[in-house]
Amino acid sequence: MKKNADVVIIGGGIIGMAVAFYLAREKYGDIVLLEKEKFLGSWSTSKAAGGIRAQFSIKVNIEMSMLSERMFRQFENDTGYNAVFDQVGYMFLLSRDEDVEAFTRHVELQRSCGLDVKVLKPDEISQYAPHVRTDDLQMATLCLEDGLGDPHEFLSGYEHAARKMGVEIALETEVTGFDFEGGKITTVKTSQGDIEAPIVINAAGAFSGKIGEMAGTDVPVKPYRRQCVTTGPLDFVKPTFPMVVDVATGLYNHKESKGLLLGWADGSQESSFDVSIDPDYTDGILERALDRMPLLETAEVANVWAGLYETTPDHRGIIGYDPKVENLFHVTGFSGHGMMHAPAAGIVTMETLTGKPRSVDIADLAPTRFQDGDTAIETNVI
Ligand SMILES: Cc1cc2nc3c(=O)[nH]c(=O)nc-3n(C[C@H](O)[C@H](O)[C@H](O)COP(=O)(O)OP(=O)(O)OC[C@H]3O[C@@H](n4cnc5c(N)ncnc54)[C@H](O)[C@@H]3O)c2cc1C
Repeated sequence: MKKNADVVIIGGGIIGMAVAFYLAREKYGDIVLLEKEKFLGSWSTSKAAGGIRAQFSIKVNIEMSMLSERMFRQFENDTGYNAVFDQVGYMFLLSRDEDVEAFTRHVELQRSCGLDVKVLKPDEISQYAPHVRTDDLQMATLCLEDGLGDPHEFLSGYEHAARKMGVEIALETEVTGFDFEGGKITTVKTSQGDIEAPIVINAAGAFSGKIGEMAGTDVPVKPYRRQCVTTGPLDFVKPTFPMVVDVATGLYNHKESKGLLLGWADGSQESSFDVSIDPDYTDGILERALDRMPLLETAEVANVWAGLYETTPDHRGIIGYDPKVENLFHVTGFSGHGMMHAPAAGIVTMETLTGKPRSVDIADLAPTRFQDGDTAIETNVI
């Protein structure tokens, strides 16, 4: 590993790799990415369900997604690596009055940002998602620009392109601490030796709070276990099925191989780094899935996995310089939407570091907001 760099990136998930790629493309200088595990993406990135959508409740998240979706569409052109963005759409099913009221407002905001979102009556839903029970639904929202992608494909694309442009990726290299001078980090200490850099980027996902602790600052990102289940092949699953989210229960499902992927954010989980499979959690997913999709009665479970959401108190990502440690830049805390926001996060980080005008106004993602009493919450999280 080099002893000096122009920037050190901590974390080799999709966020750290996207940052490395966009900085390298701008010829930023010597870029070194440090990853504690043997493989890139070992933590949250490899566990992501692959959903990519712009239907959020706050403007900055809609804009981050719209920029990312553009980048996913032109990914091969930019990286030379083919990764599929399957724009089958995202559908939110709404059965409760309060959700109808909130989503009606969200749709207005999304449309004002230029997003093409449809509002469907219950009898129009089965045209897109014939597998869901609609008798209790009041309406659905659908955006056909949203869709699915394989996190591994996008991560690999960024990795290969970044390596080609000279980014050094140091695997099995754990950051263990920092040296400081005058409120700035001078040296990043790792299990493989020290490295000096004028800028240090915290892209450590669910571990970002720990990086903050090492630097003597507070990064309010907490880990929460989230599980997914996949089924065996199902006759009714068509290649055109959208991602479907049952807003009242939080269940989401989309096509996966020849079956379905089912997921749910169990709000009763305590914050921890535990990624063992909890059978009660799996049952909770299956119960909700059977209720919304009775056709699943004969389905077989093919696979179950657990990973971590990297959650902030307001479910907004954190992008910007730390308020206490001048040269520590955070790109983290995407609260379960980090795969879909990775391209935009990489681009706005590059633009901030190079002094270019930003493609998205990221003031609402500033690390300082937690001290400034900004209490707006992203409510459209799954
Ligand atoms: C079940 C599940 C489903 C999800 N579904 C979706 C989805 O459909 N769409 C979506 O957009 N997002 C989804 N997500 C969220 C998404 O996976 C994350 O938001 C995203 O992967 C975050 O990327 P990251 O690079 O910040 O984190 P990570 O991928 O966790 O990368 C951080 C890296 O930092 C490394 N690291 C940590 N500490 C150190 C250290 N001290 N030294 C060196 N390296 C260190 C870690 O080893 C890790 O590899 C899902 C997550 C889960 C768990």
